[in-house]
Amino acid sequence: MRGVPLGRLFGIPLEINSSWLFIFLLLTWSLAAGAFPGALPDRAPAVYWLLAAFTSVVFFVCLIAHELGHSLTAIRLGVKVRRITLFFFGGVAQLEGNLKNGLSEVWVALAGPVVSFVLAGLFWLLSQVGGEVGVASAWLARINLLLALFNLLPGFPLDGGRVLRGAIWAATKSFARATQVAVSVGALVSWGLIAYGVLTVLRGNLFGGIWIIVIALFLQNAAVAEASQSGAQQALAQVPRARTLAQDDWPTVPRDTRLQTIADLVLETGRRAYPVVEDGRFFGLVTLVTLRGAGRERWPFMTADAALLTEVHSVLPTAGAMDALRVMTQHNVHQLPVLDAQGVYYGMISRDQLMALLQLYSGEGNDRSPRRIESA
Ligand SMILES: [Zn+2]
Repeated sequence: MRGVPLGRLFGIPLEINSSWLFIFLLLTWSLAAGAFPGALPDRAPAVYWLLAAFTSVVFFVCLIAHELGHSLTAIRLGVKVRRITLFFFGGVAQLEGNLKNGLSEVWVALAGPVVSFVLAGLFWLLSQVGGEVGVASAWLARINLLLALFNLLPGFPLDGGRVLRGAIWAATKSFARATQVAVSVGALVSWGLIAYGVLTVLRGNLFGGIWIIVIALFLQNAAVAEASQSGAQQALAQVPRARTLAQDDWPTVPRDTRLQTIADLVLETGRRAYPVVEDGRFFGLVTLVTLRGAGRERWPFMTADAALLTEVHSVLPTAGAMDALRVMTQHNVHQLPVLDAQGVYYGMISRDQLMALLQLYSGEGNDRSPRRIESA
């Protein structure tokens, strides 16, 4: 979600989505026409509207403060914040990297509601002065308290859901499992909210009920989107790139190598494919299939060039491990050469190696999987 840039706060770009204008007008209208005349009788309409608009702006600043709570905590924990965007349902702070562990996520998630609680307390104190300021402050105290409490519902991606995920992540050391549980609990929470919204409608509060249902549906969407996105991001960020994974000690052969020599290499190393490389340039692969196809009786006098597979799937050095695995699965191959756009050869990646990596990074079988990436 993007918006119109408003400038920077603590170096973090601040944006406002056009949908926020709608909520600003709605809020100002509901305060000027409903809440304020009830609490402050006998004022001129202009007073209500000015006070309502001012209160809405202050509420908007409170939302920024809430997001700054998340953002500054994340920055303190070593994660950059790409931007803070205010939109229809509040604000969102987009982190640029990944939090290192579950406890970090708990702190970052709690920081926003803590700011809202503190603001609620401050506005409650200010509400004691009475008059216009008192009425506006009392409303701001209530809305900040509501904001903090609502956000603490354990419905991922609400802050409470993030606290839950962080806590499970910290306990199980598995980000994937923690996300799974938090999303499931979040689904329960949003269905609960929908039920509550329906009940609210049935009780005669049509607007309030529909509002709750809309928020719940929005949360369901956001949870699914965020869960798949954060899972992929986490995996991509943690798993090294193809360039790092490329095994440069994988046996390679020059073009004039006898096929018999390569057949001997198969016995010796057990590999299924041998890159034909000269001066760092990749020419193709000699595989078990092309070796067999060349005919055993011709191995002693034919060279690699004669059994060369040139139509070979490969990955770029910048590709992620996931991309490499996808190419292997799609084309049912067990290994891939890592080549740049000029055909420079970096090494080979094997399927076993990637499967081991996946197991390592998905957090499954933490205790038994290898801590180090061994050459497969
Ligand atoms: Zn928050």
